[in-house]
Amino acid sequence: MTFDIVTIFPRVIEQLLEAGVLGRAIERGTLDLKVRDLRSFTTDRHHVVDDVPYGGGPGMVLKPEPIFRALDVVEGERGRPLTVILTSPQGRRFTQADARRLAACEHVAILCGRYEGFDERVCGRATEELSIGDYVLTGGELPALVIFEAVARLVPGVVGDEQSVADDSFSRGLLDFPQYTRPAELKVGGPEPTLNVPEVLLSGNHAEIRHWRKREAVRRTLIRRPDLLATASLDEEEREILRELQEGSHGRD
Ligand code: SAM
Repeated sequence: MTFDIVTIFPRVIEQLLEAGVLGRAIERGTLDLKVRDLRSFTTDRHHVVDDVPYGGGPGMVLKPEPIFRALDVVEGERGRPLTVILTSPQGRRFTQADARRLAACEHVAILCGRYEGFDERVCGRATEELSIGDYVLTGGELPALVIFEAVARLVPGVVGDEQSVADDSFSRGLLDFPQYTRPAELKVGGPEPTLNVPEVLLSGNHAEIRHWRKREAVRRTLIRRPDLLATASLDEEEREILRELQEGSHGRD
């Protein structure tokens, strides 16, 4: 899958992608990412990318022409990206469903804003505006990385074990079940001197383990994010677990 990210801070993006699963997928060529320096699409001697807002007021606005030129170059080199994402706190909230939808695209371009944001005329060149949450960051680099990472890890061949991606929180509308690793008994002192792994996980009984995990995933979702259950795609066993939990108390989490 092909990605282009347009930013005034290419190193911020590149540095974070040097390590880990995504860095390796880029090295192998499973992901083809080009980070484009917005300043290289300016035509003046000082590579200015911002200007004062019409109408006055504080802050600076990203000039539209370098962004239009950057997208022209992306299109010229790679063909027209079907999806051009403009990062913005005013955009629609990015979700796992968006990540799944975008992972099926061949080519996604992401624009990182700065200062007071983009000149409004750039919005017409974007196919969608996405926000990563109801807060304001200083730039679009972290939002672009969040979107890139959530999408890229769903691209086949990026994460080694695809079942782990399928089981992740939100993939079917449920939060993931709790995970434990060795040691089975953790000595910590205090009023509860050992913290133990649930017996069932040590039992070797795969059917019971599978059922326990389903139950915990449903229980967690019911306690922490009951809103997700309205649209979750549960199988018969999970629906039965949910009924039981709703009738009784679903316990502490
Ligand atoms: N003045 C703008 C507003 O109030 O809507 C905020 C501009 S913000 C300081 C600069 C840039 O950071 C934005 O253009 C966008 O690219 C990025 N940004 C900040 N918060 C974001 C969020 N929650 N989601 C996505 N992008 C965000």
